[in-house]
Amino acid sequence: AMRLILVLGDQLTETLSALRHADPATDLVVMAEVMAEGRYVPHHPQKIALVLSAMRHFAQTLRGAGWRVAYSRLDDPDNSQSIPGELLRRAAATGATAVIATTPGEWRLIHALEATPLRVTLLPDDRFLCSASEFAAWAEGRKQLRMEFFYREMRRKTGLMMEGDSPAGGQWNFDHDNRKPAKPDLLRPRPPRFAPDAVTDEVLALVETRFPGHFGRLRPFGWGVTRADALAALDHFASHALPRFGDEQDAMLQDDPTLSHALISPYLNLGLLTPLEVCQRVSAEWQAGRVPVNAAEGFIRQIIGWREFVRGIYFLQGPDYTARNTLGHDRALPPLYWGANTKMNCLSRAVGQTGDMAYAHHIQRLMVTGNFALLAGVDPARVHEWYLAVYIDAFEWVEAPNTIGMSQWADGGVVGSKPYVSSGAYIDRMSDYCGGCAYRVKEKSGPDACPFNLLYWHFLTRHRDRFAGNPRMAQMYRTWDKMDAAHRTRVLAEGDAFLARLSAGDPV
Ligand code: FAD
Ligand code: SF4
Repeated sequence: AMRLILVLGDQLTETLSALRHADPATDLVVMAEVMAEGRYVPHHPQKIALVLSAMRHFAQTLRGAGWRVAYSRLDDPDNSQSIPGELLRRAAATGATAVIATTPGEWRLIHALEATPLRVTLLPDDRFLCSASEFAAWAEGRKQLRMEFFYREMRRKTGLMMEGDSPAGGQWNFDHDNRKPAKPDLLRPRPPRFAPDAVTDEVLALVETRFPGHFGRLRPFGWGVTRADALAALDHFASHALPRFGDEQDAMLQDDPTLSHALISPYLNLGLLTPLEVCQRVSAEWQAGRVPVNAAEGFIRQIIGWREFVRGIYFLQGPDYTARNTLGHDRALPPLYWGANTKMNCLSRAVGQTGDMAYAHHIQRLMVTGNFALLAGVDPARVHEWYLAVYIDAFEWVEAPNTIGMSQWADGGVVGSKPYVSSGAYIDRMSDYCGGCAYRVKEKSGPDACPFNLLYWHFLTRHRDRFAGNPRMAQMYRTWDKMDAAHRTRVLAEGDAFLARLSAGDPV
């Protein structure tokens, strides 16, 4: 009998487990553009356009490969506008009662599929290197889950950059080489842009009319929407930007939003590229002597280490993960995150580029927007919704552990042993933001003092009971305690006043 084969918008891989288990002669592929997915957080228009256009292209690819595809367009009059609704509609039309799906990367959708009256088989998503059960076995009995140890297992498992049982270059991790600032360089290669084709143009017009008012610019739209585009983006990165990836990984420049980053996360997360092929390409560049070991190792660690690790955490921690709030933070998300004016140049730039291109690199997300939200005590659920909405690559399995865990420490240390907080000095060292800022990064108090300098100590003081005993933070408390008492009082009072202005919606 005919079965329905569900292919979601981030499952655009021809070797997807659901497709491998299906028979093109009898089964029907179901793909659906639905309002429910476009709106449950206010996604950036470029992200919606990317997903819809990539889905439409992928449906063509499947048809070309001999599949029958029932494709629901967003503006089809009969569209029920939800994934379970579309499955039910296709089931009623065809008489099918069984659905095969690859497990979605989000608890919300898993639960929605399980709740349909259809017989749904959820297959593991084996596009990842580490399965949920393998991760659970690795985590079993460990007091703390540390990415570094998980990563070494993944290196052994894949054999990437290994010489026998030892890591190539004699070290697992070359991160100490990857903490350099960068200088503006007009010759730095720019990531490729892909001109919209007719399918994308149609989608852009649709997004413009159906999702007005979402934060972010829709045009110019330059993301790749097919596997061929994604491979071209990978090739461009590996041939041009990769050699400097390591050195520039943590740097921020206000006129160069992408530096030597890969900009391939959306393609990986949609399934247009697989993690192993990306890492094999990077490893081959290193083997051929074209890129230094710190660049290749650092990059591969992000993919087979961090990316797989956070996915393992998401499924291990369970559906309530996004509601965690260990530090009890409850501030509303300040309007500056949606583009309201701020005098803080680093935030204004990071948010501005996010609106323009739906992209910011890791250190901008972690040490500018994330750091500020954590220091200011913003409710982590609101921070999570923001990151899920505004970035081109944001899907809950990867976004939530990065936001709730790594960035906001709301999971109480599952992802990170200590919170990622810093004063303005870190931002000043790693970027060129501070020179153009109305605040003075060197001033520790007073009307011109950089707000990060005030809030850093304010945060540490608020959470002293929790963190003073952490060996990796004890030094900061000792530094604070040695400061002049009057200075400490002033810093805390000015921090209070800054937060009060933030709450009142006054310009900051
Ligand atoms: P590069 O810097 O070139 O890195 C290469 C690849 O490594 C990326 O494409 C990505 O696939 C992988 N990678 C790197 N760091 C991580 C990480 N911490 N977790 C998982 N994969 C990683 N990444 C997402 O893919 N989706 C998200 O929704 C997302 N939300 C984030 C939220 C916060 C608060 C933070 C701090 C980080 C988040 N990240 C997220 C991780 C990281 O910032 C992005 O993967 C990266 O910026 C993507 O751009 P790139 O391809 O140029 O990456
Ligand atoms: Fe950001 Fe402070 Fe530097 Fe201004 S001075 S750019 S607020 S770190």
